[in-house]
Amino acid sequence: MKALDELTFDNRFARLGDAFSTHVLPEPLDAPRLVVASKAAMALLDLDPAVAETSVFAELFGGHKLWAEAEPRAMVYSGHQFGGYTPQLGDGRGLLLGEVYNEAGEHWDLHLKGAGMTPYSRMGDGRAVLRSSIREFLASEALHALGIPSSRALCVIGSSTPVWREKQERGAMVLRLAHSHIRFGHFEYFYYTKKPEQQAELAEHVLNLHYPECREQPEPYLAMFREIVERNAEMIAKWQAYGFCHGVMNTDNMSILGITFDFGPFAFLDDFDAHFICNHSDHEGRYSFSNQVPIGQWNLSALAQALTPFISIDALKEALGLYLPLYQAHYLDLMRRRLGLTTAEEDDQTLVEGLLKLMQNSGVDYTLFFRRLGDESAELAVKRLRDDFVDLARFDAWAERYKARVARDGDDTQEQRRARMHAVNPLYILRNYLAQNAIAAAESGDYSEVRRLHEVLTKPFEEQAGMEQYAQRPPDWGKHLEISCSS
Ligand code: AMP
Ligand code: MG
Repeated sequence: MKALDELTFDNRFARLGDAFSTHVLPEPLDAPRLVVASKAAMALLDLDPAVAETSVFAELFGGHKLWAEAEPRAMVYSGHQFGGYTPQLGDGRGLLLGEVYNEAGEHWDLHLKGAGMTPYSRMGDGRAVLRSSIREFLASEALHALGIPSSRALCVIGSSTPVWREKQERGAMVLRLAHSHIRFGHFEYFYYTKKPEQQAELAEHVLNLHYPECREQPEPYLAMFREIVERNAEMIAKWQAYGFCHGVMNTDNMSILGITFDFGPFAFLDDFDAHFICNHSDHEGRYSFSNQVPIGQWNLSALAQALTPFISIDALKEALGLYLPLYQAHYLDLMRRRLGLTTAEEDDQTLVEGLLKLMQNSGVDYTLFFRRLGDESAELAVKRLRDDFVDLARFDAWAERYKARVARDGDDTQEQRRARMHAVNPLYILRNYLAQNAIAAAESGDYSEVRRLHEVLTKPFEEQAGMEQYAQRPPDWGKHLEISCSS
């Protein structure tokens, strides 16, 4: 266990120099205070969880203090936003404070979001509000607990600094952890600004630090791109299987590591709705729930374009062709497990699609359906779940098909079935209304609800005593909450 002043820095991205990032100091928040910290994320830095309660912790992550070895940098990148190219973006309100390595030898970027203005702030104020910082914190840690690759969050620091959005709010900072903060948009920036030397330097950096095994391949860059395609296919399969809607899948929000990254107006589905749009500003539904799958491929093609100086177009196309089949395979594998199946049959895809079609028209809770399906034998569970569906004749037909499929899968005891299904079907997910309750309390100075919700979400598959209220469908006010893009 380490104290705060014992972190070891090795700032590899900063060493790439001024073509890649700019030195900027964090702009402190007034009266910084701890809102919530993640013990699990602190463990990644070997930090003693007790240090979260010290005033130095709030000062460090509220922009007042800095380690002597930290080298705060704002990174430059660009990206495709809602399909159109924006030639220059960059860390407009976040800073890469430095890279820390832990006792296991892993490097973690410390990225402070809401740290003030940078040369890339454009029209923005460089700030993040408490509401969005809490949402990013909860989502990062909840996704990780579900087994979905994501950036992590160490803490949220609140303050008395006023920040203007639709109304006056309070500024906050969230400390994000990831092995890298390099985005698809980093590659796009150097490609479109025609800086081949820096483009090559960036590619070498990513290859050496994050995909060293690709060095062994005959075409290392191609192997790396293929790996990025594979990781994205797997990540998006998990989003779809668990009902996660990212909301702003612009290429500047896509991590080169295939992790969920840069949270805005995200949502987990309550009722299943394939057409759900969580981003209030996404009028055309470009990033609707079901569109995430083709958009994943669109984003990878944008990255492929930026990699054309290194990889032949035919090879890039071939690698891109891996995306959909891999996505399908991962998705089907997860959905089979969510249905309690241990074997694979040709027709399983239509079994899954048939269920989702029935859910779509019935307003069925996506999370609780699967959880309850595992509570009892297939026979009893479908009997009990039947009432939630509108088209009973079609549901009955599906249920017969499901029961027959379960019977063919092999016979195990109900105990085994429940344990197997509950291990992949969460009881607790980050519902928008739960986040909203925690945010409302935090905005009035009470952080206990954020902390409790975070704790519950760290063990989403385990039924926790006295936490029934976190496993409920939303009340009327909490359905279809519109989440604004302003954060
Ligand atoms: P996002 O949609 O949050 O991923 O942000 C897109 C771009 O806008 C990134 O370059 C951000 O750094 C920048 N940005 C977002 N909000 C702010 C803000 N309040 N101040 C400065 N830059 C911002
Ligand atoms: Mg972003």
